[in-house]
Amino acid sequence: MFLVAKIYFKPLSLQQNEGGFFDHENFKNMLSQIPAQDSCLSCGACCAFFRVSFYWAEGEAMPEDVVEPLTAVYSCMKGTNQKDPRCVMLSGEIGQQVSCTMYEQRSSSCKEVQAGDAQCNKARSAHGLIPLIEIEPVLPSNDDGYDQVC
Ligand code: SF4
Ligand code: SF4
Repeated sequence: MFLVAKIYFKPLSLQQNEGGFFDHENFKNMLSQIPAQDSCLSCGACCAFFRVSFYWAEGEAMPEDVVEPLTAVYSCMKGTNQKDPRCVMLSGEIGQQVSCTMYEQRSSSCKEVQAGDAQCNKARSAHGLIPLIEIEPVLPSNDDGYDQVC
């Protein structure tokens, strides 16, 4: 996919209400920004935002009639090279419940977008969905003087 600019989104901040109590609603919103394993299943925004192009040879492994030629060496997913793009292989309602009907055969461009990265959030924003936070995995560390327990 074509977007290269890095965009960082700040998480919704934890706030306190007037009485100083923890704001559960805000905390719930913040948690919903954290990518979960199934975040994409309730989204689908990137499949209906970018022109999904790839080296033509990748299309050879895909079902017939879902790929269209773009240039001499690039092809794209049908439905994504238009003003209001939507891949023909996306099923369901964006922002509710979706699935890719050729998930195992999807292109390298499809695999490139990761929940919470800049491309993901640009697509989500265009569809009115809140951004996800890109989280670096934290590996357990321990002081050398202590036994590692996890
Ligand atoms: S926009 Fe992000 S969360 Fe939505 S389907 Fe694409 S990668 Fe997944
Ligand atoms: S092939 Fe699947 S993952 Fe790729 S754009 Fe289409 S619906 Fe999305």
